[in-house]
Amino acid sequence: MADNFDNNDHEVIDVSETTDTSNEDKKKEKKERYCSICHRAESVTGPLVNLTPDSYVCNDCMHKAVDFVQNSNVDFNSIFRGLSGIPGLSFLYPGNMKMEPVKEKKAEKQENPNYSMRDIQPPHRIKAQLDRYVIGQERAKKIISVGVYNHYKRIVAEQEAEKQAKKDKGKIPDPNVPQPVEIQKSNMLMIGPTGSGKTYLVQTLARLLNVPLAITDATSLTEAGYIGDDIESVVSKLLANAGNDVERAEHGIIFIDEIDKIAKKRNMNQRDVSGEAVQQGMLKLLEGAEIEVPVGATSKNAMVPMKTINTKNILFICGGAFPDLDVIIKERLNKRSSIGFQADLRDKYDDDPNILQKVAVEDLRKFGMIPEFLGRLPIIFSLESLTEDMLVRILKEPQNAILRQYEALLELDEVKLEFADDALRAIARMALERDTGARALRSIIEEFMMDIMYEIPKDDSIGRVIITKEYIEHTGGPIIMLRGQ
Ligand code: ADP
Repeated sequence: MADNFDNNDHEVIDVSETTDTSNEDKKKEKKERYCSICHRAESVTGPLVNLTPDSYVCNDCMHKAVDFVQNSNVDFNSIFRGLSGIPGLSFLYPGNMKMEPVKEKKAEKQENPNYSMRDIQPPHRIKAQLDRYVIGQERAKKIISVGVYNHYKRIVAEQEAEKQAKKDKGKIPDPNVPQPVEIQKSNMLMIGPTGSGKTYLVQTLARLLNVPLAITDATSLTEAGYIGDDIESVVSKLLANAGNDVERAEHGIIFIDEIDKIAKKRNMNQRDVSGEAVQQGMLKLLEGAEIEVPVGATSKNAMVPMKTINTKNILFICGGAFPDLDVIIKERLNKRSSIGFQADLRDKYDDDPNILQKVAVEDLRKFGMIPEFLGRLPIIFSLESLTEDMLVRILKEPQNAILRQYEALLELDEVKLEFADDALRAIARMALERDTGARALRSIIEEFMMDIMYEIPKDDSIGRVIITKEYIEHTGGPIIMLRGQ
């Protein structure tokens, strides 16, 4: 590809007019172009990409911007549309990228923790919003939407009951008036293989509801007093994410990932400080307890101010891959079907790809989760393992899909980026082989988009690039078309 950088119209400097040396130096200085983000000279960064008549960006900053956009779950397309026409394109500065999806603005009203039924979105609306980001997983999205709806309804019911109790203080209770029903907390347990979107689902949910979220890894938790984070540290994380606003934190969501790693260890002689003991330690947290947490730190010490958080209205969602749980489920189902007249169906579950959907509490107990712990997670559901079709859809359909982000980036160079259908299938197949779910998609795409992002801006005449299956499989190149072709 020809290097057109020096032919750029905006950079023509008429050297013939220069006579004195200082002027010449100035012109030379002027000739050297600088990255508008990191301010390094082109001689240091390598060829710069022309953004507008007088701003450029280097390859490193361009990639940092891509990473930032990919990690931020931001609706990049709508922002791009909103910002197009603004000279300077300063939005490539990560600091300026505090962009929120349109829906979030609406949710800001919920900042007042005194919920009313009007503030709570019905399940079908919550699901419709999730649909814009999370592909497939229909059953999981439905269950989670209903669970969240019930969770916040329960908070409203409790608030109403508290108000009523205040009003009735001192009065003798009327035996004919029924007492309000206590609604159980809707904590959830989500089962799904790595990269099937567990974390993503919870992150999207918290963002749409505009509630603070804390994510922790169960493997880092140990019983208080042992090395590792103590169980309550996750609540101080939530408080920090709620901007130290206790009331906001008390209506937030805590996601505890890798919960399967704290299953009861079999054949252990010593005390199980990171397994069963952590499950025991989490019981009061899940149920609702007043917890003293340090503000602005994760460990308690005399220097750190403390705040009290009540966890009774915090929604806990636990997630885990539960390896080999399918074997336990099959064993149970096969045992049942081998009895009596259904005996001929003995192996019918062996090839069921979504066997995890048939999970029952007893399977999880067998896996090593203690009954008291499971009792505090009344909503149990599984995510589907991702298929080739789902991976293709994940590439292109979500509001902030990876492909859309790259398309938007190349649009800045006025280059149209397209992906052939069989190329997307090839990417999906490669991702399936890596066995890390949708997580593999990003790394595969990054591998080959790096060259495209580097080479295309070199040549102003390129107007369209089509990524082919051959390019993905390293047996050919992309189709490059010149402007006007
Ligand atoms: P898990 O927590 O199950 O291991 P993640 O939630 O971290 O998996 O998923 C990794 C990435 O894959 C997410 O950041 C998201 O971009 C993508 N992803 C996974 N599942 C989906 C899905 N169903 N729809 C859209 N994107 C998904």
